[in-house]
Amino acid sequence: MIKTDELIAAWRARLPVVVGDHYSHKVAKAELWKIFGGKCSYCEIRLASQPGEVEHYRPKKGVRDASNRHVVDPDGKRHPGYFWLAYEWFNLLLSCAACNRVKLTKDGAKHGKGERFPLETDARSFTPEDGVDEEPTLLNPWLDDPAPHFEFDLNTGNVRGRTDRGRKNIDLLGLDREALVGERLKLIQLLKGAYVMLATATVTGDRKTYDEMERLLDAHRAGTESFTALTADLIRDLDAKMLRAFHRVA
Ligand SMILES: [Zn+2]
Repeated sequence: MIKTDELIAAWRARLPVVVGDHYSHKVAKAELWKIFGGKCSYCEIRLASQPGEVEHYRPKKGVRDASNRHVVDPDGKRHPGYFWLAYEWFNLLLSCAACNRVKLTKDGAKHGKGERFPLETDARSFTPEDGVDEEPTLLNPWLDDPAPHFEFDLNTGNVRGRTDRGRKNIDLLGLDREALVGERLKLIQLLKGAYVMLATATVTGDRKTYDEMERLLDAHRAGTESFTALTADLIRDLDAKMLRAFHRVA
């Protein structure tokens, strides 16, 4: 990629490395929107009411640890950021503002990624020559399956980590933030309500309501709505409950 080559050439020549915003060109953003189904790659909320931000998985202009302190190299120099990945597809994501920007909460905790990119080991890349042979804490939406790391409370919409990495991701991104839990709870109530109406329509033979509820559930099963991982857990749970209820009736 020409722009990447230019950045690396500037770095080799010890000139200032200036990362432009080509990564957020409307064509690139539209492509990311398509790839991630118009949802935040981290929290899975639909971005219908906000434009969404092009997010760099590995931060491009500077790197901080989980506590938001600058990461420094062995000589004490601040990490320049993974500038050589600023325009690489595999480093670009679509994100909501709350996941993307670091923010101090009422209780003093930090939520949102910002330039934070903690690792699970000390092996950190500082230059293009180092490659990216690292063990990041942050789950990579291109590579990692989040399912083993998170467990959703199907009554409250809260989330907890099944693994240490899951717990760290919840803290880092604020996946347990109030607004998000509230949105998850709304979805839980919607889908639970749909199952009740579906069961009632089955018993009463109300074909119109039955079809309506099936259409709604199909849209959520397809993963095009918010919270795909939670939806999968919830629908599995509700299907099992429905099956048990019908067995009891039969
Ligand atoms: Zn988000």
